[in-house]
Amino acid sequence: MRTFVFGPVPSRRLGISLGVDLTPTKTCSFDCLYCQLSKTSFHTSTRSEFCDPDAVLLELKETLAEIAQPDWITISGTGEPTLHSGLGYILAEIKKLGNAPACVITNSSLMYLPEVRNELMLADRLLPTLTTVNELTFKKIHRPTTDLKLDDILDGLRRFINEFTGAVEIEIFVCPGINDSDAEIDGLGNYLNSLDGLESVYLNTAVRVPIDSEIRTADQNRLNRFRERLKLKVPISTAFEHSLVPPKISSWNRPAVSSDILKLLLRHPCSEEQLEKVLGSSNEKILKLLAELDRQRLIKKEANGCWSLAVEEQKQ
Ligand code: SF4
Repeated sequence: MRTFVFGPVPSRRLGISLGVDLTPTKTCSFDCLYCQLSKTSFHTSTRSEFCDPDAVLLELKETLAEIAQPDWITISGTGEPTLHSGLGYILAEIKKLGNAPACVITNSSLMYLPEVRNELMLADRLLPTLTTVNELTFKKIHRPTTDLKLDDILDGLRRFINEFTGAVEIEIFVCPGINDSDAEIDGLGNYLNSLDGLESVYLNTAVRVPIDSEIRTADQNRLNRFRERLKLKVPISTAFEHSLVPPKISSWNRPAVSSDILKLLLRHPCSEEQLEKVLGSSNEKILKLLAELDRQRLIKKEANGCWSLAVEEQKQ
């Protein structure tokens, strides 16, 4: 049973991604209205060694020995990974393994700290989130810990991107009626156009059910309008434009079991087809496991046909 490593999972932006989770479930500096995991249970901006870095690395090495080479080793998961004080050490050790490049998915909240920026320099790719340049909107959407200031975060993100030699794709989570007014989009556009070294921008929206009913999905027309209004110098893609199943597929060396499915769904709702491909199992086997988990009310099928964890399970 794995504790820190999950997947490989199919990722819209990363192909086949092996995930590494460094924080206990929902330890985060934000408590976003749009979070699709659960309410933040440990709301903190204080860095700490939430788990033993060597235990993480051991589990990662064991997993890499079992599976086909992933496209990326991605530090993300069920909280904010830059909160882990051993992030730099873990990234340096992943580099030494020479198996796959390292990516970090972050909410950007600690980018104002020089030590966090220095540690993230060891990554090959950074996917930071930025939803607004307006302090009030920032507080409304993200509900950050009280010490976090948007101006400091914007400054830290700029400093990092200007120096980083890897690739950075900023994710904007579009929340209709909250951060998609002309003034909001123009503010974001001006900031993003001022960043030297930004690779691309990704417009995301609530394609899965968020925990707050105030959050609505932005359809493709709304995302197109957002994209056009941003007027950026770099490419912009949207949540509806990438296939969830990339062409390159990894496989497992052992038959899938129920816990494999639960671990995948904790981080990423999947269709039956995706589960078959990622777990390297037959349709019959996956359907049988899903039926049993459904019978136990541990999972549920969403309107779009993907399976996700039932709410009770997510809160555990
Ligand atoms: S930063 Fe990510 S994990 Fe944290 S509350 Fe927001 S969406 Fe959830």
